[in-house]
Amino acid sequence: MNESQLRQEMADLGRVLDRQGLCPGTSGNISVKLEDGLLMSPTNSRLGQLDPTGVSRLAADGRHLAGEMPSKEVVVHQALYQARPRVNAVVHLHAPWSMAVSCLEHLDAHNVLPPLTPYYVMRIRRLPLVPYYRPGDPALATAVERRARDSHALLLAQHGLIVGGHDLADAAANAEELEATARLFFLLKDRPHRLLSAGQIAALDSAFPRRI
Ligand code: ZN
Repeated sequence: MNESQLRQEMADLGRVLDRQGLCPGTSGNISVKLEDGLLMSPTNSRLGQLDPTGVSRLAADGRHLAGEMPSKEVVVHQALYQARPRVNAVVHLHAPWSMAVSCLEHLDAHNVLPPLTPYYVMRIRRLPLVPYYRPGDPALATAVERRARDSHALLLAQHGLIVGGHDLADAAANAEELEATARLFFLLKDRPHRLLSAGQIAALDSAFPRRI
């Protein structure tokens, strides 16, 4: 895919995520790696109304080259790319159910959500929690970089989700699966329910290995 196709795909996926109510207001941002840099959704933009030509273009060293100013959360995306070289696209959302989980007490910081469905296990597998930092605190990027060494999907406390993918479509689908599972988690919380067993998870791992 060339750069202008990637810009169009960012706008298309932004609309898809917005239609599902996953990016309230001007929250959330998307990026995709280029051979020599990054495309990033602009600051204060609505993901449902991205102008493909206005998408920010950054150099490999992070310099802003063209388009509108990038979202301030670009450093968090860069941290995830840094930790996981196979990730080619990143989606970050203040999606409501993931946000709700991220505000709960007594979460398992090593892996927040249980293995409820094979679809969640195949796309996410493990979800570490990143502690809360105030918006704009550079320490958030450092914390993301450290935890992203364990997983391409992270939950940011009182903030939302951030996930990587092989490409834009994969990253968006990973974000949607995570949000759907956060919703399931609340639906099932007070009812007896089954989780996938260690054996069932191992069978998924061998049938559908994720190398990202
Ligand atoms: Zn955010």
